[in-house]
Amino acid sequence: MTEAGSFADRVKNQADIVRVIGEYVRLKKSGQNFTGLCPFHGEKTPSFAVHPVKQIFHCFGCGKGGDVFSFVMDMEKCPFPEAVKIVAEKCGIPVPRPKERTPEERKENQQRAALIEIHREAQSFFSRQLESTAEGRAARAYLEDRGLNAETIAKFGIGYAPSGGDALLRQLKPKYAEKLLVDSGVISRDQSGARLFDRFRRRITLPIANESGKIVAFGCRALGDDLPKYLNSPETPIYSKSNVLYHMDRAKEPIRRQDFAVLVEGYMDAIAVARAGIGNVVASCGTSLTEPQIKLLGRFTKRVIVNYDPDVAGQAATERSLTLLLEHDFEVRVLALPPIGDKKADPDLFIREKGTEAYIKLLKEAPPYVDYLIARARQMDLSTGEGKQRALNFLMPYVQRIPNRLLRSEWATRIAQQLRIDEPVLRAALNKSATERRSEVKVAPQLVGKPAKQIERRLIRMLAEAEGFKRELAQRLQHGRLYEGLETEKVFAALIVAGLSDEPIPATEIGTELGERERRLFFEILFEDAQEPTWEEAESCLDALRRRQIEQELAKVQKTIEANPSGAGLRELLERKQELMKQLTAAGQPG
Ligand SMILES: [Zn+2]
Repeated sequence: MTEAGSFADRVKNQADIVRVIGEYVRLKKSGQNFTGLCPFHGEKTPSFAVHPVKQIFHCFGCGKGGDVFSFVMDMEKCPFPEAVKIVAEKCGIPVPRPKERTPEERKENQQRAALIEIHREAQSFFSRQLESTAEGRAARAYLEDRGLNAETIAKFGIGYAPSGGDALLRQLKPKYAEKLLVDSGVISRDQSGARLFDRFRRRITLPIANESGKIVAFGCRALGDDLPKYLNSPETPIYSKSNVLYHMDRAKEPIRRQDFAVLVEGYMDAIAVARAGIGNVVASCGTSLTEPQIKLLGRFTKRVIVNYDPDVAGQAATERSLTLLLEHDFEVRVLALPPIGDKKADPDLFIREKGTEAYIKLLKEAPPYVDYLIARARQMDLSTGEGKQRALNFLMPYVQRIPNRLLRSEWATRIAQQLRIDEPVLRAALNKSATERRSEVKVAPQLVGKPAKQIERRLIRMLAEAEGFKRELAQRLQHGRLYEGLETEKVFAALIVAGLSDEPIPATEIGTELGERERRLFFEILFEDAQEPTWEEAESCLDALRRRQIEQELAKVQKTIEANPSGAGLRELLERKQELMKQLTAAGQPG
């Protein structure tokens, strides 16, 4: 609940719910709303809607709904104040310093800020080294040899860690405590614990930024044949390698715009692909793709082209990533680059040798993952029964993950043909495991409200939104008790209280006072495409409710009369009946 004039209130007024939710869900304009796949329940067709004018969201599938804050609270699993802060940051609204914090929280925040500052300083140190030292210039020549010009070096913040062993340490030591330097991961402590030294030495440095563009780690490539080829930052309070995708900070906008991402293995691949004009590229960097990385990516697109190295490790990584991506309902294509001469080509090498256009052409033609897998299976020895079985065992787990039944069946036919396997045998194997697949989340039936009658829906909409007359309408409904006994009675009651209040009360706040079933109904009504209401329409709806009220009483009187035709009070009952009949005529015929 936001207090008028509070910071939360200000954020809510300035925030664009479509933009904020758009960072988590791919939204498409549909009429006056935006729709997308609900992030709160598994679904294949969008039933999640965001209303830009009313600044609310609602899922017609699982019934979740609310304002921008309740969305962020649910997505980030955070309390209200944190959600306000997140929304403010996303919308560029300066957040006032919170007054109260636990000492631990304050300490943690200070530590994180200091670690980020250390990375910023290390970054400019490494850049300077590349520019202005003899060693650095040699590194620069190496980079130029790999086709990286000054512009690229500057854009990707590529730098150089000198071989001395304590150059960075000397730079940082006067300003930071030893423990903090070691915690940052750019400085290491030797085994005796007595001596500190630079973690990265004689290496090209590539800054790794978190999603919001702050440098949180470095990936460092050896010059020449030093081992390991890549040395990265360790896990620190600000960096966990399984949560970060390289280049995500720059790629997220292009990914959202183009609705697909290119996934490569290494830093140099990502840089090469991005330089080729394909900005929507991210790299998993040395790890096989993790669940948090997939979730991060899934906030921007559900379509991926995997372009890993064609070597054995790359193939294994491709196949592991496929499994995870399919489990998260990604649409996956695989680009396996052809060898150049006798060299296996990673994206970096391929683009350098064959050029941007050749790469883009192959990217566009990248086949769906099943084609890639069939091609892989065909490389196995298919001349024997056991060989075929091995190929089938290799393929089956992927095919079973195809959510669409028709598609799955189509692939079964193709696999049978390509591997020359008896189709019924293959189908039997497929069906057996298909029943074990996880299914979509079922919506609890008791949460789906019965459709309220059209008149009630219209009146509810007017009470919520007809600025010109909603107060008058609330008074009439209240005065005549016209909504009592309706299925939507509770929604009316809450809206009438709001309508009679002097302060404007937003829909989401009314929603929080309703039960789940009512809130759901209320939000559905708010999302209906509907004409501007007029007072004439309101009056005719009121008349209809009035008639309904009279008819109900009339039926009751009639029943009492029939139950006891000679009883006392018959005269009064008959008089009441007459009166009601008259009222009914006056209330007019349903029009
Ligand atoms: Zn939902």
